[in-house]
Amino acid sequence: MTSRTEPTFRESVNMMFDKAISLIDISPGLAQKIKVCNSTYTVRFGVKLRGDIHTFTGYRSVHSEHKEPVKGGIRFATSVNQDEVEALAALMTYKCALVEAPFGGSKGGLHIDPTQWEPDEIEKITRRFAYELIKRDLIHPSQNVPAPDMGTGEREMAWIADQFRRMNTSEINADACVTGKPLNKGGIIGRVEATGRGVQYALQEFFRHKDDVKTSGLSGSLAGKRIIVQGLGNVGYHAAHFLSTEDGCKITAVIERDGAVINDDGININQLQTHLIENKGVKGFSGANYVSNGSEILEKDCDILIPAAMEGVINLSNAQRIKANVIIEAANGPVTAGADEILTAAGTIIIPDMYANAGGVTVSYFEWVKNLSHIRFGRMQRRQQASSNHILVEEMERLIGKPVSEDFKNKFFKGAGELELVRSGLEDTMCTAYQQMHDTWRSNENIDSLRTAAYVLALTKVADSYRALGL
Ligand code: NAD
Repeated sequence: MTSRTEPTFRESVNMMFDKAISLIDISPGLAQKIKVCNSTYTVRFGVKLRGDIHTFTGYRSVHSEHKEPVKGGIRFATSVNQDEVEALAALMTYKCALVEAPFGGSKGGLHIDPTQWEPDEIEKITRRFAYELIKRDLIHPSQNVPAPDMGTGEREMAWIADQFRRMNTSEINADACVTGKPLNKGGIIGRVEATGRGVQYALQEFFRHKDDVKTSGLSGSLAGKRIIVQGLGNVGYHAAHFLSTEDGCKITAVIERDGAVINDDGININQLQTHLIENKGVKGFSGANYVSNGSEILEKDCDILIPAAMEGVINLSNAQRIKANVIIEAANGPVTAGADEILTAAGTIIIPDMYANAGGVTVSYFEWVKNLSHIRFGRMQRRQQASSNHILVEEMERLIGKPVSEDFKNKFFKGAGELELVRSGLEDTMCTAYQQMHDTWRSNENIDSLRTAAYVLALTKVADSYRALGL
């Protein structure tokens, strides 16, 4: 449709960086220092499987060490390459700065198709990759702390933590070497849902900003909004599940690898997820109509589009046909720089990845703090808070001369446990960061979008941190 060439993911991130940095008072030298990726370690290792040696290539990239440890997920996918890992590491630096998670940015990836290997084989491969990274302090509680990403989850994080412990038997903070672990292996309640939950909180906050809602051409609240989701994995599933069961949204289409399913009355997300797991695809799901060309469904009419699979799916070839009023980037980099320009000019609101999917790293931060403090959140306070509330209600009932409702009592007497505290911390983070992006966007006419505002905020914080170090 256009003679413009599509930038790579990394070029897209750099173009967005360049646009924002030109709006900040910063020396060219410091700007360049922030932009470049500090280091990328490439490892090739062999694992004996199925009677033969198989060689795998992995990366761990450290974008910025202005704060340590550095943090960022490990991805298992065939799309993994050095450029992708470095772009994702840069995004981690900006994301952590934006939501005030005290980390530098990093990312890792292993070039592998996880569906081609049995669980015991993936365990061997994961442990070997982890071994290579651990011996170079590229996995370490105070240096570099990975987390799950595409193709990895709690299971891989548990293996990585165990591998670290085997290689560092006297390290008391070993659990803090990786986040996104299962609860019984030092994880935190609410981490699995965190990124999708963060997407929900981001949309709730967007709808509290009536000027932004008006700019998007929408009105009212989240209730009843028609949503299309691409990728029903960890992030996409939780976002779709919470938005449809708690906010009254209708998920009118879900796009997966093997096609898409559509139902204008709303898809039952839990039933679809069960079908997806059992059948390894959405085809054949009885609660919706199937189409084989999934990517076309990105262009279907809807209020909110949630790309939650991979980068570059909204690009120069389809941006002009996207009809959603709001795109919330649950995945990293789903909208290319070229598409971003087209959509922003057309008035589409894009809630940027750096913010939209920051729920994961936010709750990872809480998990890391929990591991370092060796106590679960709420353990000391919960009973004490509950008994203070008892005393208050007894006195209130004495003063008003009648009992308060049982429903009120049940809610009020229940002190906050770990899940309530995690959700509260996450919601506060998502609301505060949105307000900052909104205020930055609306107070400077040169800032044309929430994305540019997010970059300006993040880069200013990183620059201030480097300046404080004397750079
Ligand atoms: P996941 O592996 O759990 O899920 C990805 C889903 O997308 C899978 O269901 C897969 O089948 C589907 N998919 C893959 N390619 C597709 C395609 N071309 N079309 C349609 N569907 C496709 O991964 P995830 O952890 O949910 O991560 C998804 C995105 O969110 C990635 O960009 C990741 O970097 C980002 N992210 C994840 C987290 C996290 O906590 N997991 C945090 C921040 C950002």
